Amino acid sequence: MANVLVTGGAGYIGSHAVKALHAAGHQVTVYDNFSAGHREAARFAHSVVDGDIHDTDRLRRALRDHACESVMHFAAWLSVGESVRDPAGYYRNNVLGALAVLDAMVAEQVHSLVFSSTAAVFGNPVETPITEDHPKQPINSYGETKLAIERALPHYERAYGVRAVVLRYFNASGADPDGELGEDHSPELHLIPRAIDAALGRDTFQIFGEDYETPDGTCLRDYIHVTDLADAHILAMDSLRSGGQSATYNLGNGRPTSVREIVDAVARVTGTPVPLTVGPRREGDPAVLFASSDRIRRALGWKPRYEDVDTIVRTAWAWRKDRPSGYRTPQGTAR
Ligand code: UDP
Repeated sequence: MANVLVTGGAGYIGSHAVKALHAAGHQVTVYDNFSAGHREAARFAHSVVDGDIHDTDRLRRALRDHACESVMHFAAWLSVGESVRDPAGYYRNNVLGALAVLDAMVAEQVHSLVFSSTAAVFGNPVETPITEDHPKQPINSYGETKLAIERALPHYERAYGVRAVVLRYFNASGADPDGELGEDHSPELHLIPRAIDAALGRDTFQIFGEDYETPDGTCLRDYIHVTDLADAHILAMDSLRSGGQSATYNLGNGRPTSVREIVDAVARVTGTPVPLTVGPRREGDPAVLFASSDRIRRALGWKPRYEDVDTIVRTAWAWRKDRPSGYRTPQGTAR
């Protein structure tokens, strides 16, 4: 049993990781400013600290008060398109914010970190499936900010002894199979919830570009169930706790799925065609991103439980259809 501080534990991926930690018997302190998270999503935490990641003193106190020995750092901004328009916000939150978390860890001698990174560190792939060693050439500031921290971590390890597992998520999707947690961003920008809302007649939906060099002209991505991501976090933390080395892993199912194929899956699962228009490409979108996750499968024994696209969409649909306004507790208005 470990005491774990989870920044962003009220957010989409963070909350699923908190539930998995709780189920594995760990004691979780969620640290969140609720600018995008939901109090209801943090309900599997042992305690909740309302705090900002830039506030190193508050982070230090939270680590001390709850005797935390590990940190999972989820709190970040995460939208490719927004990062193109607002790089300053992304550098502030994702770089300065993460450095403040590291400062607090170093000061409190907490030496185990699981860090949320992204497939966006690779930019346009020169080779697929994308392995961990693939060249890193981000094409948006979101990817740049995550890569900046990835590159800082070995230096922090050498100088301060902080060991870290970096998990590079491909497309996090789906919802808690028990229906207790789900995706609730405002505004919602991600493909699957947007297509579901269109099928439900709640919103319009546009495919961003049909002129990519892919079989059906739409972007290919690697959709990975959020609960499978959560499992990987537990394995990563356990490996560090048992003395394992720092490592970086890609996390996807290794299967490229097009935007059109997702739309078809949503139509199958909901039993309703998805009304849509086809618009221009979204800035910052590579044509193809899919992972090789062989390294984490081999090293940590990670194995996805919800690989199938229809299964992923079904869990997202089950969560979304009964909750037209998401969680009961609204997210804040800090941005
Ligand atoms: N996408 C789309 N329409 C939308 C939202 C997303 O066509 O309303 C496309 C987007 O261009 C990308 C894919 O769906 O090719 C996945 O986008 P999402 O924002 O879900 O995740 P990202 O790949 O940016 O992490």
